[in-house]
Amino acid sequence: MTTETPERGALHEFLGRHERFLLTTHVNPDGDAIGSEVAFARWLQGMGKQVRILNDSPTPAAFTWLTAGTPIETYDPELCERRFAEADALVVLDTGNRHRIGRLARHLDLHAIAIAVVDHHATHEGFGKVNVIEPALAATASIVYELVRESGAAFDLLSAEALYVGLFTDTGNFRYSNTDARAHHMAAELVRAGVDPQDVTSRVHATAPAGRLRFFGEVLAALEMLDGGRLAVIEAAPEHFARHGLEGSDTEGLVDMPRVIAGVEVVALFSEVEPGKVKVSLRSTGRLNIDQVCAQLGGGGHPHAAGVQMRGSRADARARILPELSRLIGSLEGAGTPGGSA
Ligand code: AMP
Ligand code: MN
Ligand code: MN
Repeated sequence: MTTETPERGALHEFLGRHERFLLTTHVNPDGDAIGSEVAFARWLQGMGKQVRILNDSPTPAAFTWLTAGTPIETYDPELCERRFAEADALVVLDTGNRHRIGRLARHLDLHAIAIAVVDHHATHEGFGKVNVIEPALAATASIVYELVRESGAAFDLLSAEALYVGLFTDTGNFRYSNTDARAHHMAAELVRAGVDPQDVTSRVHATAPAGRLRFFGEVLAALEMLDGGRLAVIEAAPEHFARHGLEGSDTEGLVDMPRVIAGVEVVALFSEVEPGKVKVSLRSTGRLNIDQVCAQLGGGGHPHAAGVQMRGSRADARARILPELSRLIGSLEGAGTPGGSA
């Protein structure tokens, strides 16, 4: 088999050496996390391997249709013990940070299990025996796609759809800066394999309860424009979530909305689902790299899309994050002449 890198070769060998696999991904999984797991599991099943998937957090409703045939279990201490005991290898997808797999992390210390990491984040530890970490690729799904291709295996329709979901969600529907020729080429190949883009995207996007839009409306009505219109800030409070019966994953897509405002360089969302737990999401519209702002607080992500989980109030989180963003914005050429209205 010809593989693109020695690490990929090591991963193919790793998969050949083991029989019973457990797959997992990061907390609050997104389309890339779930899509990559599903396609990876189906690939392993095609090789005659045993596969289980266990995540810290439940699968968002938008992606449950992908799990027909490869159920995804949600963390429970006893179930997790059992799954670790049964498996001889763990494959971690879409994160290279040990703490990002949530409550599964503490079971790693109790079991001598071989670990492989497949991820595309630049801020990583790579805690596996084998680490296929490729920040040049738009999505973990892109790495999985290329691994399957290298192995010579064929894609069934659901695997192709799962990979397509991973790709279009992580590229913001082919709009973010990670959207390159390779991403479009992969999309074209998946469409050729039978994926219907209109059908698949509507299955993912048309799943919101009406309350989510009312919630977006309330949160966006309080949008703040700082730093001469270059920084857009939105906050979601526990009351907002409670009023509409929503959970953390219901912010999906919210942080992208202020990107449409002329002159915006960075969008920051402070989302407090439970009092004292704030999830910060940052987006750059292209000129600034904001991942370091999150990485230095224990989070991470990509240059133009990053996040961090923080303890304390929204005011505390703002006090740590906003001055850093203002400093970055101030470093831009021509930052003295505001581009938007405050
Ligand atoms: P989000 O704002 O949750 O959509 O995340 C944007 C990007 O940042 C994704 O690539 C995430 O994997 C990454 N990210 C979000 N939260 C964290 C975190 N707490 N630690 C590390 N990376 C994160
Ligand atoms: Mn992800
Ligand atoms: Mn990803």
